[in-house]
Parts: sequence; structure tokens; C-alpha cells
Amino acid sequence: MVLSELAVRLNCPEYKNWVKAGHCLLLLRGCLQGFVGREVLAFHRDLLAAAPGLGPRAFCRGGWRCSPRARQFQPQCQVCAEWKREILSHHTNRNGDVHWGNCRPGLWPVDAWEVAKAFMPRGLADKRGPEECDAVALLSLINCCDHFMIDRKKVTEVIKCRNEIMHSSEMKVSSMWLRDFQMKIQNFLNEFRNIPEIVAVYSRIEQLLTSDWAVHIPEEDQRDGCECETGIYLSESQVNEIEMELLKEKLQEIYLQAEEQEVLPEETSTRLEMVKEFLRHNEDLRKGLTEEMQKLDSLYLQHQKQDSKEPGGEMPEERA
Ligand SMILES: [Zn+2]
Repeated sequence: MVLSELAVRLNCPEYKNWVKAGHCLLLLRGCLQGFVGREVLAFHRDLLAAAPGLGPRAFCRGGWRCSPRARQFQPQCQVCAEWKREILSHHTNRNGDVHWGNCRPGLWPVDAWEVAKAFMPRGLADKRGPEECDAVALLSLINCCDHFMIDRKKVTEVIKCRNEIMHSSEMKVSSMWLRDFQMKIQNFLNEFRNIPEIVAVYSRIEQLLTSDWAVHIPEEDQRDGCECETGIYLSESQVNEIEMELLKEKLQEIYLQAEEQEVLPEETSTRLEMVKEFLRHNEDLRKGLTEEMQKLDSLYLQHQKQDSKEPGGEMPEERA
């Protein structure tokens, strides 16, 4: 019998660990969305209660001149200037990077989510709510906004793990790493003991991480995955979905880093090559990622053209 591409991939324990870890991130995202959505509204209400002048009657008078770009924002009207000050006063990273480019400041008086995005990583300008965000966006908001009362070290530990998952060039993590990840997630989730939907997800994560995570590949007559008592059996299509989500996030990350020239073009090209090599052996995943790969390829070509136009030009600085 010919093994499916998925079965071959999952024969590699480290790859399986990588997918498991990614599945945890998706579960984490799922249980944080509702909570974060409610808290963002509460935060916005608190802000307006403290500074009523910033409410729905306030209007940006700067028009297009009040448009932020990446980390830059020079407000051209009083309302935006006051909002900027207010946001910074609640930002735990106020002296570091604030990705103002995520926000449309004209909407700050009426749209809580536009305010929330100032506490998130770059590249989220088009996200209209927590349901469109990945785990790291939600975790960063919880970490950077002082409305969330939480031991921040526990959040940053999980963010660090998330970055290790996404930056793993071979898409593999060890079992020891996975155990450590489980502990860090547990520490983080323990901070939310009074939020039932977050508490509930912990047992699922624990089950997932400690199980062998057998993937049920259905026989001809069983199209759907079987829901076993333990709930840790997934169908082929469910695992595929998780892999796709993870790979898309990984490619998006490579794209953003290349776009902002945070990494050297050679490094981008090495990372791209590794993903391509992986996809070459995994036709089932490649098909779903054509758009993302094309986007990356054209960005890379564009940078190459620029580089050849300016020989000896400055190399982009690498940021820590
Ligand atoms: Zn303005």
C-alpha cells in the first residue's frame, strides 16, 4: 500500500511534534478570542470614561495627514495626538516598537479594535477583530496593554515558544521542547482561572501534547474522522488543515520580515528554498499555498532588482 504524503510526514516524530505544537497555538487562539474581544471593549470604555473628550464626538481633523506608517506616527490633529498619548500611557512597550501602521487613528474614538491593534505586532492593518487574529497577535496585546493584569513573564514565555515554532526552518521540534512548551502554556493558562472557556481548553491541550496523537486515516467507507472517547484522533483532513494554517503563518512571517528588510535577502532566500524543498515532496500542501509562495517570490525578485540597481548599497541592518 502506498502511504499518503501525510502519513509519510507524520512518520517523522519531530515533524509530528511541530504540528502538535501548532495545533496548541490554534487551540490557544480559539480560547482567547472571546475573552480578548470582551476585554478590548471594556478597555475602550474605561479610556473614554477617563477622557470623555476622546469619545465618539471627537473627530480627526488631519485627514490623510494623520496616517501612520509602520512604526511612525506624527499626529496632525489634536484628537489623534491625545489618543496617541493615551495609548502610549497604557503601553508596556512604550519606549520600544509600536506598530502604529496597524491602526486607522480616525476610528479610535469609535472602534475599540483599532485601538487594540496599536498593542500588536506589525502586519495586522486589515484585521477587523480577534476572530481574524492569530495567537501571537492576541498574546502580544495581552502582554503590551496594561489593561490585562497578568504575570507578563508567562505571556512572553509562550510568545517565545510560538516564535521558535514559526522560525524552525525544518519545521521540527523535539519531544523535550514540546514538554517544556506544555509547561509554559499551563503556567500561562493558570493566570485565567476565572475564565471558564480558557480553563476548559487546558485539558484538551494537555491531552493533545501527552498523547501519541494517532492520526486516523479512514478506510474507504469511513469518510470522516472518528471521534474517539479520548478526542485525540484527528482525520487526515483535520491534520491537513492545521498544517496549512501553520505554513501560511510561517510564510506570512517570512514575508513581513523580508518586506521590512529585517533579514538579509540571502537569509530570506535560504528560508524560501527550505520551504520550497519541503513542498516539492508534499504536493498535497503545495497546492494550497501557491498564492503565498508567489507573493514571496515576487517580493524576493523585487528586492533582487533593487539590489542589482544599487551595487555596493548598504545592507539592511539586522534587528534583534
Ligand atoms: Zn487626526
